[in-house]
Amino acid sequence: MSKEETKILTDTINYLKFYKENSNYAIFESEIKISESPLIFSGKTGEKTVIPADSLKKADHKKVKEEIVEEPKVKQEKVISIKESLKETAVPLIKEDWMESVSFEKFEDAIKDCQKCKLLARTRKQVVFGTGNPNADVVVVGEAPGADEDEQGKPFIGRAGRLLTDILKAINFSREEIFICNILKCRPPENRNPLPDEIANCEPYLFKQLEMIKPKLILAVGTFAAQTLLQTKEPLGKLRGKFHIYKGIKMMVTYHPAALLRNPNWKKPTWEDVQLFRKEYDKIINNL
Ligand code: SF4
Repeated sequence: MSKEETKILTDTINYLKFYKENSNYAIFESEIKISESPLIFSGKTGEKTVIPADSLKKADHKKVKEEIVEEPKVKQEKVISIKESLKETAVPLIKEDWMESVSFEKFEDAIKDCQKCKLLARTRKQVVFGTGNPNADVVVVGEAPGADEDEQGKPFIGRAGRLLTDILKAINFSREEIFICNILKCRPPENRNPLPDEIANCEPYLFKQLEMIKPKLILAVGTFAAQTLLQTKEPLGKLRGKFHIYKGIKMMVTYHPAALLRNPNWKKPTWEDVQLFRKEYDKIINNL
């Protein structure tokens, strides 16, 4: 094959490759030079291959184009059929026993051996479900159990818990009439912050608790609880002092009692927050 023939053949192959890969005939069409004479290739044994000039004309290119343009359709059909087969084989959302719980006793019992967070399930002493009135108008939500809570199976005990009880008393709530729980039901080792996958595992339990209790108001205590529930990185100082909506329920956020023990300067803003909280509660209860 002469150098010129090789070049023509190589150009033709490159063009076809380009065309196939880009499916963009229009931008390439004007560049094509149509050969006016047949192409003749000679083999090593003397035989000749003739490509008639006609076969290189635009009409033939168009035909090739149509054939190639068909390709996406085939691909599309394939995608649809894969989607259909995925639908058939898709695993339905797993129903877990606790989801069907109709009482808090059954619910607590259903999650007491929860193993979703492997590390926490190994290091905790017990799951801290929450305590109080299952028909409460008010739910207090904290971050996670600490050492005392893990030991006794109850949220907010120890020094910080006693301070919370006093704060609630000051605005005329008893621990028995409200419900108190945490976002995470197991103690993280060394009281570290809960990890995102631990929250993702445990938050559905909180959703279910709120769904069963149907409280009128939520008080979230501490930066972590506030930021997790509101899905924000805003500092607590900017989130406190006003109401937010969480799962359709009015929610106030304020400082964690443990933080108040560390920094008494936060007692005043906390007092303002809980007074506002009580005022809102009275308004809702009295239909004002
Ligand atoms: S933190 Fe919640 S989800 Fe994780 S193991 Fe404990 S109860 Fe289960």
